Amino acid sequence: MSYYRRKFRESVTIHRSRLRRFLTKVENNPPVLLDDYADEVDKEVWTEVNCLACSNCCRVMTPTYDFQDLRRISSHLGMTIKAFKQKWLFKNRKGEWMNVNRPCQFLDRKTNMCNIYEIRPKDCAEFPHLTKKKMAEYMHLHKANVQYCPATFRMVEKLMERLRSVVG
Ligand code: SF4
Ligand code: SF4
Repeated sequence: MSYYRRKFRESVTIHRSRLRRFLTKVENNPPVLLDDYADEVDKEVWTEVNCLACSNCCRVMTPTYDFQDLRRISSHLGMTIKAFKQKWLFKNRKGEWMNVNRPCQFLDRKTNMCNIYEIRPKDCAEFPHLTKKKMAEYMHLHKANVQYCPATFRMVEKLMERLRSVVG
């Protein structure tokens, strides 16, 4: 495991519960300007976090593939959608198509780059959904992702700093 991911895992062990408690408070009593704060904080987070030093989402999570993703990626690979699904995906209980393998089969584990970056699933392109609105309705997502994603982790820390006097 890389130094970056190991240090992040240590921080998660120490701070995860505290960050999740904060997110629950925000969820239960969302500040009026929460969505504006989220936009501000998002910009700051991406000046600090480098996904190419991380790739945790591609290693420990799986995207869901919608029909457009399946069509675009299988066509790029010169496969039928059926063959693509058979080779790499399974359907979960909710009927969503997900990766069998973790790390993802498209991750270059040496460079942390995505081998299908330009045509990656929409879910990957939008992850970690830091500015998804209304933010208060996506707290369950951030609570789940805070243990995997350093960008989410920093977003919550920064939100805590800004909202200390409002949320407590
Ligand atoms: S498709 Fe690319 S961005 Fe998405 S999980 Fe796989 S390697 Fe990561
Ligand atoms: S989105 Fe989060 S988990 Fe994924 S590579 Fe970037 S910082 Fe890491």
